Amino acid sequence: MNSSLESYANALWWHDSLVPPLAGHALQSDIEIDVAVVGGGYTGLSAALHLAEAGVRVAVFEARHIGFGASGRNGGQIIPGLKYDPDDLVAKYGPEHGRQLVQLAGGAADFTFDLIERLNIRCRPVRAGWIQAAHSPLALEPVVKRARQWQAEGVAVEILDRDEVAARTGTAAHFGGWRDPRAGSVQPLDFLRGLAHAAADAGAQICEQSEVQSLKPASDGPNARWQLGVGKHRVRARTVLIGTNGYPAKGLVPGLAQSVLPVQSMQLATAPLDATLSEKIMPGGVMLSQTRKLAFYMRRTPAGGFMIGGRGAVGNTEAPGLMTALERGMLQLFPDLRGTQILHRWSGHVCLSLDGLPHLHETSPGLYALQAYNGRGIALATRFGKMLADEIVSRSPAIYPKTKVKPIVWHSLRRPVMGLGVRWYWMKDRLGLASK
Ligand SMILES: Cc1cc2nc3c(=O)[nH]c(=O)nc-3n(C[C@H](O)[C@H](O)[C@H](O)COP(=O)(O)OP(=O)(O)OC[C@H]3O[C@@H](n4cnc5c(N)ncnc54)[C@H](O)[C@@H]3O)c2cc1C
Repeated sequence: MNSSLESYANALWWHDSLVPPLAGHALQSDIEIDVAVVGGGYTGLSAALHLAEAGVRVAVFEARHIGFGASGRNGGQIIPGLKYDPDDLVAKYGPEHGRQLVQLAGGAADFTFDLIERLNIRCRPVRAGWIQAAHSPLALEPVVKRARQWQAEGVAVEILDRDEVAARTGTAAHFGGWRDPRAGSVQPLDFLRGLAHAAADAGAQICEQSEVQSLKPASDGPNARWQLGVGKHRVRARTVLIGTNGYPAKGLVPGLAQSVLPVQSMQLATAPLDATLSEKIMPGGVMLSQTRKLAFYMRRTPAGGFMIGGRGAVGNTEAPGLMTALERGMLQLFPDLRGTQILHRWSGHVCLSLDGLPHLHETSPGLYALQAYNGRGIALATRFGKMLADEIVSRSPAIYPKTKVKPIVWHSLRRPVMGLGVRWYWMKDRLGLASK
């Protein structure tokens, strides 16, 4: 049985990278800084970059190495928005605040692509849009409703009929869909490495192999409010940000790890397609996801291969049967791929919340946590990292609502409970119901 934690090394991205890793060192001495960031993914590095650019003394502590977490092994699909549609956000938060959140999350892909351009990160961005395709006639109505809501927000999304989806994706398995032109793809590890280099160039300290093992209020000194234990060293900081998402830091903030559900997502990538297949299967770099709850998500790789992702097991061990199911799903959608070599198979932890929303917490003054992007973290973590940096620098509150940490009561039973949930979703998918 393979370890899902260690399977980052099998991910395509680690074998196809243009941006060299940062030579990050382990923490060498006791230090005092303004902001300590726990976790070296998009959340931590985006916050650190923007804080360092504002002149804040910031250090990032990563338990393993940059890219060990989801940010170094994801699908590379930069999709804007939350899993709540614009009208849902307005209904939940009221017209003014709801609309601000629509703009914040809806603008997250633009923000991310602009950042890539500003920092000149060689992560091979392709902005060919994202199609969400209805897996049943019943799932089409909510998709069209979603698209119309974004059109009302002034976004040039397209509503596609069955034939248009088939023509643009090369599979006739869907009943229509919508295309969001704001979305696009990147080499996700290179994007992360680019962020790390930019943060270091701006003055952030990036410490790898530096697990934060303890966190407590600092007892001395006028500036430090928090004291972190990293190996044998002490870090004193006024503000702490925990950005560990689906690889939760254990024991730093009571209940934080128990407030989210890390779930594996599995992925595979093929060898480059030949010219005929290349023109037929998702040409031009468009990305595709399905409306099923247990959905597949797909894209072409920078080298011209095909990539598909889907559900994995709960826990740290991969389930080979689910990888076989992923391969089967790929061939059902694209029978022409039979015989194309699969070069990489891997998995990682997506971080889910019960309400489907990311969560921003400030559990005590100056102690923040940002997590649970529900599989949409590239744009959101990058954008929210900047939002939090702005709050810390200007001390004006972030517009994203802060919530209390709420441990999930059945967290210790999550494997059997989520097993039941999967069966429930499987049934809903079979009935043709849509999800977000
Ligand atoms: C297989 C897969 C496919 C995905 N596909 C997409 C996609 O196509 N599009 C999209 O938008 N999102 C996708 N996601 C989700 C996205 O990758 C995540 O939301 C995002 O990377 C989260 O970034 P992060 O910085 O919050 O966390 P991570 O990148 O997971 O980083 C957390 C880091 O914290 C470190 N850490 C933990 N504890 C400690 C400690 N005590 N001390 C120091 N460091 C610690 C970990 O080692 C880890 O490196 C996918 C995720 C997976 C797993």
